[in-house]
Amino acid sequence: MYQLIIFGPPGVGKGTQAQLISEKLGLSHISTGEILRKAVTEGTELGKKAKEIMDKGNLVPDDIMNGIVKEALSSCSENGFILDGYPRTVVQARALAGIFSELGFSEVRVLNLIADDGEITQRLLKRGRSDDTKETILNRLKVYYDSTAPVKEFYSEIAKDLNGVGDVEEINAILLRVIRNEA
Ligand code: ADP
Repeated sequence: MYQLIIFGPPGVGKGTQAQLISEKLGLSHISTGEILRKAVTEGTELGKKAKEIMDKGNLVPDDIMNGIVKEALSSCSENGFILDGYPRTVVQARALAGIFSELGFSEVRVLNLIADDGEITQRLLKRGRSDDTKETILNRLKVYYDSTAPVKEFYSEIAKDLNGVGDVEEINAILLRVIRNEA
């Protein structure tokens, strides 16, 4: 069973790579950003609360996110999961450790995708999602460095740094080799 977390700054390609990996290995792709965007589209209570926060590039409260992820992990594929966009704070990482131990997941690995700020800003500006305006992007980067980057330290023993710049399929091939322990 694959127990994976894909980690990195906004725009580094987590979503794209997580989608490809989940298709190829039959994993549950648990993207907290996608779950929140779906709630916004459906106009649920969560969606109403999340929309304003997301449009500013801020983080949805940890307790809400922890609940969402616990539920998703509880019904994940028997082949495993890839978490994308979570944990995004050290508080979330600590909660996740508790969820993993409750659910008996003890072989978790972290894929740490890397790209510099100039590259990711350009990519986000091109993507043009509703939270991809210049102002929001700058705030998302700030939030990333203030709140999310410290999570790297939390996973220093189980994380592998991987280059996120280049051809999508080539990056994917490298990630798959790492996941399959061939690299
Ligand atoms: P990106 O690709 O820019 O990292 P995501 O799709 O992962 O974007 O997330 C979009 C937005 O959803 C975030 O800016 C944040 O507002 C919210 N969000 C997603 N995941 C989390 C999380 N784990 N904790 C708090 N907020 C989250």
